[in-house]
Amino acid sequence: MPAPGETPRIRPPDREKMAEGVRLFLEGCGVDLSDPNVRETPERVARAWAEEFLDGYDKNAREVLGDFYEERKPAADEMVVVTSIDFQSMCPHHLLPYRGVAHVAYLPSGRIVGFSRLARLVDALGHRLILQETLAREVAEAIRRELDSDGAAVLLEAEQTCMTLRGERRAQARALTEAFTGAFAERADLRERFVRRIGVAR
Ligand code: ZN
Repeated sequence: MPAPGETPRIRPPDREKMAEGVRLFLEGCGVDLSDPNVRETPERVARAWAEEFLDGYDKNAREVLGDFYEERKPAADEMVVVTSIDFQSMCPHHLLPYRGVAHVAYLPSGRIVGFSRLARLVDALGHRLILQETLAREVAEAIRRELDSDGAAVLLEAEQTCMTLRGERRAQARALTEAFTGAFAERADLRERFVRRIGVAR
């Protein structure tokens, strides 16, 4: 179950209800439900949403970050940075996906985790109905909270299909959202170093 500070779900998913909803939606679209290509679509859609798009609700930050390694507290604002973590999430306004890369950094206070755990954190918090702005904030706050970090920085670059496939249809547009906690929120020099690290890694 989500921890405090994470976008929650109020009850477990009901696959039958999900499939029924898709069936009703297709009926509303005027589609022929006896078409062999469509006949099993409601169950297929329900499965994809429950098991892939929204499976983050079944996880929480503490659990996916796993075991900590105790390390000496670094001397001088040494940051851990993982760049270009590919991710996907789902817009709560249109139920359309957005996807891109996440850049994540934190200042260890003595607790560190495996690098790949940060990628799993992005997935656990992102595989929900959540705005890109909120996702950046939740990832940064979870790192600060769970790793007792002195600060965390998150930058998400994504294609919002809400904007590229519908509405304005600006195919090249990319949305950047960021969140800074702790020392990153207070100090411009740390934010600048974070952005430089991302550049170095590309
Ligand atoms: Zn949208």
